[in-house]
Amino acid sequence: MTTDATPGATETGDALTTTGNLRTNTGTRVLQVKYGERQVRLSDAFHDFEAHGMPDAEVTMDYNFWTVERDGRIALVDTGYDVSERDWLGEVSVLPVPAGLSLAGIDPLDVELVVLTHFHFDHIGWVHLFENARIVCSRIEYEYWIGKKRAGELAGEFTTAELLQPIEDAAEAGRLQFVDGEEEVFPGLSVTPIGGHCPGELFATIVDGGQGIILAADAAHFGIQIEQGWPFFAYTDLDDMLAGLAQIKALADATGWAVVPGHDPAVRTSFPAAPGEAGSVINVLMDVQA
Ligand SMILES: [Zn+2]
Repeated sequence: MTTDATPGATETGDALTTTGNLRTNTGTRVLQVKYGERQVRLSDAFHDFEAHGMPDAEVTMDYNFWTVERDGRIALVDTGYDVSERDWLGEVSVLPVPAGLSLAGIDPLDVELVVLTHFHFDHIGWVHLFENARIVCSRIEYEYWIGKKRAGELAGEFTTAELLQPIEDAAEAGRLQFVDGEEEVFPGLSVTPIGGHCPGELFATIVDGGQGIILAADAAHFGIQIEQGWPFFAYTDLDDMLAGLAQIKALADATGWAVVPGHDPAVRTSFPAAPGEAGSVINVLMDVQA
C-alpha cells in the first residue's frame, strides 16, 4: 500500500478534499473499498475457460466492500472478511475492513443498513460490528445456508458456521430483513435477487438525480463475464448465472449505468481514486451532490 494518490484522484479530489474526509452530508456518494486481493489463473476463475479460445494468464482479483452515503446516512453493501483469520484461496490482506471503514470516515455503529449480497466468506465477515444496522439479504439465501448450517453440511463450502452465526443473531434480534424480489431498501439503493453464483445472490443499484450505478457483486466477478457471457467457476445454478449476466447487461444497456463487477481490478482504474492516502484502496464510484 502506498501513500500516494493514484492518477485520477485529482478529478474528484478538489470537492472531496474540502470536506476533510470522504463523508458528505448531501446527495449520494458511493465508494468501493478494497481490503484484499489474490492471484488467480483465468482457467481457474472461469467455467469452461478452454472453450473461449484465449491464452491462459494470471490476473489479480480484488476483494472489496462498498459504502453508500445518502444525505449523511450510511449503508454498506457487503462487509468483507478478516483475511488474517483464514487462508481460503491464497487471499492477501491489503487493509483490514475496520481500517478501511475508518479511512472512509465511517463508524460501524453509524451504519444504518447492511446489504449482504450472498453468504460466501468474503462478503459476510465483521457483521457483528454493525450492531445498529438492519441486515438485508434474500430469503432464499438465508434459508439455503442456514439450512446447511443446521444440517451440518457446510464442509467444503465457501462459508462457515462461525461466519453465519452473526446473521442468525441479527435475525433473532429482529434486525434481519428478507427480500423476495426487487426492492428499494434504503433511499436510492435497491436490491434484486438474481441467483446463479449462490441461490439467493443479490445485485444492487444506486440511483440519484438521473444517475445510477449497478453493483453486480458476485453476479459478475469480472466485467468480461458481462461482455461475453462467461460464467464464473463457482455457481449453484449455471443457467441462472448465464441468465443473470444477460439481465445485468440488458439493464446496463437500457439505462447507460456503469456496472461494477465484484472482484474486477479494472474498477480501480475505471473510476477516480479517492484523494490522498485513501486513494490507495478507495475509489469513488458515484458522487451526486444536491
Ligand atoms: Zn466474492
